[in-house]
Amino acid sequence: MTSTDPRPSQNVMRPDKDHFLAAENPFEEMMSRFDDAAKRLDLEPGLYQILRMPEKQIIVSVPVLRDNGTVEVFTGYRVIYNTSRGPAKGGIRFDMQVTLDEVKALAGWMTWKCAVVNLPFGGAKGGVICDPTTMSNGEIERLTRRYTTGIIETLGPDSDVPAPDVNTNERVMAWVMDTYSMHKRHTVTAVVTGKPIAMGGSLGRREATGRGCMIVTREALKKLKLPLKGTRVAVQGFGNVGSVAADLMSREGMVVVAVSDKSGGIYNPKGLDLADVFRHTAQKKLLNTYARAQQISNSELLTLDCDVLVPAALENVITDENAGQIKARIICEGANGPTTAEADKILNQKGIFVIPDILANAGGVTVSYFEWVQDRGGYFWDEETVNNRLEKIMVHSFDEVTAMAERHQADNRVGAYMLAIDRVAAVHRLRGMYA
Ligand code: NAD
Repeated sequence: MTSTDPRPSQNVMRPDKDHFLAAENPFEEMMSRFDDAAKRLDLEPGLYQILRMPEKQIIVSVPVLRDNGTVEVFTGYRVIYNTSRGPAKGGIRFDMQVTLDEVKALAGWMTWKCAVVNLPFGGAKGGVICDPTTMSNGEIERLTRRYTTGIIETLGPDSDVPAPDVNTNERVMAWVMDTYSMHKRHTVTAVVTGKPIAMGGSLGRREATGRGCMIVTREALKKLKLPLKGTRVAVQGFGNVGSVAADLMSREGMVVVAVSDKSGGIYNPKGLDLADVFRHTAQKKLLNTYARAQQISNSELLTLDCDVLVPAALENVITDENAGQIKARIICEGANGPTTAEADKILNQKGIFVIPDILANAGGVTVSYFEWVQDRGGYFWDEETVNNRLEKIMVHSFDEVTAMAERHQADNRVGAYMLAIDRVAAVHRLRGMYA
């Protein structure tokens, strides 16, 4: 996507019904992981009840004047899951598959993700049921502004700070910020993150999630006493997260043997020429037309002979059907929810070291936090400062998650949830019950 075109590009991730926690209710699926960790933490029953429910669920109807003069009414949601640790933080997605349960699940996820990396934020998520690929820029702008107005009471730098998500981008964030600011009668840059640099965005934000993946993978290799140089990596998804992760991992000395996008994957056991692959994708070409490597399918990529697997595209790609065939020693979950609960059990039995999504891809929200801090302070950091601070937080969080997992003889996912829930619960205890 370009910064001026809010419409999703051809290469954008568009999860379909089969992907997002398919047959399951996504909220219940998220909660089953929460329950697992809460049980081990022996949470008090009252606190357990509080943390199982979102604080606020907003449903708005969003009338939009179409270019042909007709009016269409869309449905939008904003769910504030928890704000005990600070303002709610979470993206806005425009997609036909948006449901209230999905938004609730994603808002919960954001709560735990922000707590894992110890940001002073709670969690939220928003969405509008729409297909932006069928809408003009003007229609998307009107939809964004009307949705923003619909949820304006919740928004604010101190209360709820959105960001881009599926099918929204920095252009859409600029409209959210402008609409909010027009209502407030002054410019409020810190009300959203993921903005264009020219209006208060942060340097390093675009690369932050992939950079975070590289950092935690490097830490995992160190922990397992595996060499970094020559480690073979396969990356599913060559978008914002996957392409940056692949690039930075190869700069660290790892060998990227396979990458894929929605059209399929490419493979070279000796390592891909990434610069050449980037030249290909820069021309808006998909990977199935890349001729200088072996073509493979997305499912073949997941079970390739490699050391590190980075699922960085979709939910639910590692399932009980393919988990048994995975050969990687480390899985770094760049995507949200790439592994089903059933697959987790198999990966554990095989002793695969999983860096769970709420840690592995938390680099994005961490630099969103930096953006918010810079906006509020009115003073902007250079890219090196952003990257150094991100590095520090990711390394420290990795150590805390693995220490928690080891202490409780749990896997890293349970360790990450325990760390997060414990942090949110501790603040609830200190604040007490307002009755
Ligand atoms: P993106 O749209 O930039 O890229 C997605 C990539 O996945 C594209 O290369 C696309 O072709 C590919 N893809 C789509 N369908 C596919 C399929 N069926 N099989 C294989 N590949 C497919 O998206 P992104 O921002 O890189 O996000 C990827 C994942 O990371 C999502 O789960 C997202 O929620 C998660 N995530 C992103 C960020 C961020 O900062 N961008 C932060 C945290 C988590």
